[in-house]
Amino acid sequence: MGSRGGLLPLDGLQMHSSYDVIILGGGAAGLMCAARAGQRGRRVLVIDRADQPGKKILISGGGRCNFTNIHAAPDRFLSANPHFAKSALSRYTPQDFLELVERHGIAWHEKTLGQLFCDGSARQIVGMLLAECAKADAVLSCGENVGQVEHRDGRFTVHTDQRLLDTRSLVIATGGPSIPKMGATGYAYDLARHFGLKVVEPRPALVPLTLGGGDVLFRELSGVATEVVARCAGASFREAALFTHRGLSGPAILQVSSYWRPGGAIGIDFLPHEGSGWLLERKREAPRATLRSVLRTALPDRLADALSDRLGLEGPLANVTDADLRNVEARLAEWTFLPNGTEGFAKAEVTVGGISTAELSSKTMEARRVPGLFAIGEAVDVTGWLGGYNFQWAWASGWAAGDAI
Ligand SMILES: Cc1cc2nc3c(=O)[nH]c(=O)nc-3n(C[C@H](O)[C@H](O)[C@H](O)COP(=O)(O)OP(=O)(O)OC[C@H]3O[C@@H](n4cnc5c(N)ncnc54)[C@H](O)[C@@H]3O)c2cc1C
Repeated sequence: MGSRGGLLPLDGLQMHSSYDVIILGGGAAGLMCAARAGQRGRRVLVIDRADQPGKKILISGGGRCNFTNIHAAPDRFLSANPHFAKSALSRYTPQDFLELVERHGIAWHEKTLGQLFCDGSARQIVGMLLAECAKADAVLSCGENVGQVEHRDGRFTVHTDQRLLDTRSLVIATGGPSIPKMGATGYAYDLARHFGLKVVEPRPALVPLTLGGGDVLFRELSGVATEVVARCAGASFREAALFTHRGLSGPAILQVSSYWRPGGAIGIDFLPHEGSGWLLERKREAPRATLRSVLRTALPDRLADALSDRLGLEGPLANVTDADLRNVEARLAEWTFLPNGTEGFAKAEVTVGGISTAELSSKTMEARRVPGLFAIGEAVDVTGWLGGYNFQWAWASGWAAGDAI
């Protein structure tokens, strides 16, 4: 892939005629789209404002990139239209991406819950995508910021900070506003609105939740982690939760955060491995045990103490009525937190919401009302669970557009 960072020669304005498609954003979705469109003989230019492509890929999965999830079924994605992602996901599957990874000799492993990671480094995934783009003669320009775009007579004029470009097909692949420190912006939404496309209100997702009010005392547990079932708005996840100095985090919480809305509650089952009636059983087995001592056998001590303090049930279990024990059991199985917010886009791994799927063809990602305009990846109102789902959406939507342009 040729790179055209920096200033172009003065005849740069004439270069426009040589590209069939311009892809705005050289992240996961943009690079996949470029490779596919290029392989189909399209002359492709990818423009990215960052100094290098795929920056989020490089930091993903703790530097090892959780590049897909073998369970990437459509019900693991959030969208105003839950059916929208089906077509693209079925035409470019985790197996397809895995075959690409293996063709490039990248060693990988399944960590947990179907999450596939590189054994080595996320750099290998970026290297693989760039190699695929190079093979397809796609051109990449980094360090080039895209601004205004005009649409006239079926063609798009793209104004960048370096030149004017003209193309028949334009792909919005500039991602969402999560982690602005990395250069993420809401540019995709501004551009979509400019073309009259609706945008579903973007919210931070896969993000820690903050606690205030009566829950503020739980912040004292900062650093304590335990396996829970976290529930919110009909979704539930059995994974680790972590108390932080601001509230709650850990995979189970990040997962439910995508479903949480201000004012809503989340429910935590602190003892998901215990069946109904377990506390009455303990009373029979060890009548002199206390709630605190029982909880300490199953949970980290600090959490066990905090919960038993709040439940206010002291003394041997033998002295507690069965009804009270059942009540305690129920509270431990559905402990309710009322988060007062999230840690925002600064800490959000992805964005829920984005360019409305109602505006796009689910087969090609092309805007119904603006022929030649496509939107892919995180910019679109499709958001995956934690665990490789968001990259799978980026690959699948990028492929769908690249296959159609
Ligand atoms: C810390 C972190 C870890 C993550 N880990 C994982 C993981 O392990 N697995 C997983 O599935 N998902 C993970 N994600 C989510 C994943 O990174 C995103 O879902 C994915 O990168 C979205 O791909 P995209 O191509 O749509 O957008 P991006 O990858 O964000 O790419 C957008 C590109 O557009 C460029 N751009 C933006 N505005 C402009 C402009 N005006 N002009 C030109 N270029 C512009 C940006 O520089 C960027 O390169 C993680 C996210 C974060 C923040």
